[in-house]
Amino acid sequence: MQQDDPQITLITPAAPIAARTHGGRAKCLQRLVRLDLPVPRTVALSFDAVHAIAAGDMPDLDALLALLGDSAPLCVRPSSEEPDWGGPRAILNIGMTEARRAALAPRIGEAAAARLYLRFVQAYAVDVARLDADIFDDVSDDPAEGLKEALAAYEDEAEEPFPQNPTVQLAEVLRSMARAWEGTTARLLRTAKGAPADAGLGLVVQEMVIGLGRGECGSGVMQLVDSATGARQITGRYLSQSQGRDALSGGADALYLERDPRGPSLEELAPEAFAQLKEYTALMRTRLRQEMQAEFTIENGRLYLLDGVRVARNARAAVGIAVALAQDGIIPREEALMRVEPRALNELLHRQVDPEAPRDVLARGIAASPGAASGRIVFTSSEAQASHARGEPCVLVRRETSSEDVRGMHAAVAVLTERGGMTSHAAVIGRGIGLPCVVGASEMRFQTGKRQLTAPDGRVLREGDEITVDGTNGEILMGRAPLLDAGEDDSFRVLMEWADETRDLAIRANADTPTDALVARNFKAQGIGLCRTEHMFFEEGRLRVMREMIFANSSTDRAAALERLLPMQREDFADLFRIMQGQPVCIRLFDPPLHEFLPSDRAGHRELAEALDLPLSQVTRRVEALGEYNPMLGMRGVRLGITVPEIYEMQVRAIFEATLLVAGEGVEIVPEIMIPLVSASREVELVKARVDAVAAAVRSETGQAFDFRLGVMVETPRAALRAGDIAPQVSFLSYGTNDLTQMTYGLSRDDAGRFMSEYVRQGVYPEDPFHSLDTDGVGELLSIGAERGRAAHPGLTLSICGEHGGNPESIAFCRTAGFDYVSCSPFRVPVARLAAAQHAV
Ligand code: PEP
Ligand code: MG
Repeated sequence: MQQDDPQITLITPAAPIAARTHGGRAKCLQRLVRLDLPVPRTVALSFDAVHAIAAGDMPDLDALLALLGDSAPLCVRPSSEEPDWGGPRAILNIGMTEARRAALAPRIGEAAAARLYLRFVQAYAVDVARLDADIFDDVSDDPAEGLKEALAAYEDEAEEPFPQNPTVQLAEVLRSMARAWEGTTARLLRTAKGAPADAGLGLVVQEMVIGLGRGECGSGVMQLVDSATGARQITGRYLSQSQGRDALSGGADALYLERDPRGPSLEELAPEAFAQLKEYTALMRTRLRQEMQAEFTIENGRLYLLDGVRVARNARAAVGIAVALAQDGIIPREEALMRVEPRALNELLHRQVDPEAPRDVLARGIAASPGAASGRIVFTSSEAQASHARGEPCVLVRRETSSEDVRGMHAAVAVLTERGGMTSHAAVIGRGIGLPCVVGASEMRFQTGKRQLTAPDGRVLREGDEITVDGTNGEILMGRAPLLDAGEDDSFRVLMEWADETRDLAIRANADTPTDALVARNFKAQGIGLCRTEHMFFEEGRLRVMREMIFANSSTDRAAALERLLPMQREDFADLFRIMQGQPVCIRLFDPPLHEFLPSDRAGHRELAEALDLPLSQVTRRVEALGEYNPMLGMRGVRLGITVPEIYEMQVRAIFEATLLVAGEGVEIVPEIMIPLVSASREVELVKARVDAVAAAVRSETGQAFDFRLGVMVETPRAALRAGDIAPQVSFLSYGTNDLTQMTYGLSRDDAGRFMSEYVRQGVYPEDPFHSLDTDGVGELLSIGAERGRAAHPGLTLSICGEHGGNPESIAFCRTAGFDYVSCSPFRVPVARLAAAQHAV
């Protein structure tokens, strides 16, 4: 072995060490050595060496010890390929025996020597011999006394004396760390962090600088940024007479690093060591191209660097750090963009439960819309509105939501449902308006009639009880959890600007209301890719007119009701056009089945009968007649547009009139009109003829010209397959991948949540296909449709407006397939902008 054995290598500037073979820590230590920093002598064991140790094949440790010199105790630390993959706990002071204690005592003092030995006995007992930590519960605080007691406790429990041979100690430590890495728990933990199941572990064995003894001795950590905000600020602690990371748990005795009004500092105690440390940490940042935390020890006034690790960071700090590194010319902008996980931006865009705070979890469900909020439980939308009016934050709890609940959702601070999945009503609306939402929480018992909710552990919650919905993790917490505010800051804005300069895929937002449109514009969406117009009919004062329209017996009566809806719709569209200031706005014509606008219970029927001045029996009959066994595959979308054409005619007239209205105010817009749920080209032909007729009528009535673009929403497999017939008639195709996924799998959007996690757990689906696009099946339909559509109509615009538009992996697919844009919920626009930029780098 020795230096030329790559399995056991003394870390020198030229040694053959790579993160791939020896792990990230070993590689980082070599970089520090190359920078000529004062790193104690260190030996790296390769993945192969550690693997062999786990299998029982111990290398020649005497030779290893000879590389390090025999005088000091040692420490062993894990070195996995990616530092985030973790590894067994570091073990310090290996080699402490009775003989070494006695030898060290004259140099560092009796008490310090005893403390070192005691520490090692305890660490060895727990981490290596796997004894219970509580055998040391009664050990005395006096080091000499404590050591005696600890040795006795060890001997008693292990039924053998504490090993006195440093080589044996080291062998046992290496073996136990190597085996711990191969254990099932460690394997599961690292695979959850993205490591391959067979990822290797390296180990580094380092000569220890003791940190205890005469003169100024101690240890600490330093970093140059705040881990929570990314702000430049010297952070860390130092503790005299300590080792490892003791300073971080050193309480009141630990010193600040820099001079600080709150207490004494290392800068005052040892100004030279402090200045040097600051310089080294800054050097690590520039040369390792990463914000680093330095672990250091001072021995008799002299500074040593033991280790450098990437600074721990939350999403906000990750953005700040990446941007600052690029602004300082240390990394290129493209690399800064790649260093931020797009999904992590959610942490910046929404309030979150403080990750440091204790969590009293009542139950889990599907994390359908990120962010967290606390409020009192209400079980109906009208209670939510009442609570909102009183200024009391409330959480709307429903078995599932429907269009009737939209107003209640707007009034609530969060939503919790028993049923549903990623594209159920509550999830889509929640994400659209930035409302934290957990759906499919079926492990709780929902008794909304009795106004109570029972957690799996039997705790019962009633109306008015306070809970916290954590839509980022999918958890329901008892009471009011401490929340952290959203953290958009200058670094975020800079990173987003860089993303926009880099990406080649446009990002639009799905926005139904002026509020959504404002959010979309603030997040720099390049237009609206989907305005679901039906939500507009639930507004105050409109539902009744809508119901009159549905109940109309003749086309004259229907026309009268639609006449009243027309000016309202015109204003809706004009508002969106004004907010979007000339950017494209794609309006989808009416989509849901009409029965969604009618009350479902008897009391509702009675109320409606009164309002419309009709006999109850007639109302009930009519509601029943509109009912369908399978409404999502029934009379909705374009089918309604063909059989009750007046609704679409009213909507397109409102769009054209709004276009002319805002043109008069100086806003130039070419509106986009989208036909939902198409499955046959003849449907498009029929609707197109009517739309053209309305356009001609408006042009001749007003004497004014305007343009518009007509498109089809591809939501049925047949529309994708027949894109070649459909495309020549329209300007664009936009994939509604929510319905397309539902229909391709034959999987209900609203019910799949019940078994989805089981399906994913058993590997039937790699992921929830409503969440991440199924590129194999649904993706193939997308590609076929794109290819046939573009072949028949070369200038055709292609896009996606289902919920997948905000999913980074699905965005990659759309870009590769040559789409022009993706459209997603307004709050996901920044995530999509960054994901699109990363794919373009
Ligand atoms: C879709 O089906 O993908 C879509 C965007 O429409 P909705 O979710 O309104 O059905
Ligand atoms: Mg749809």
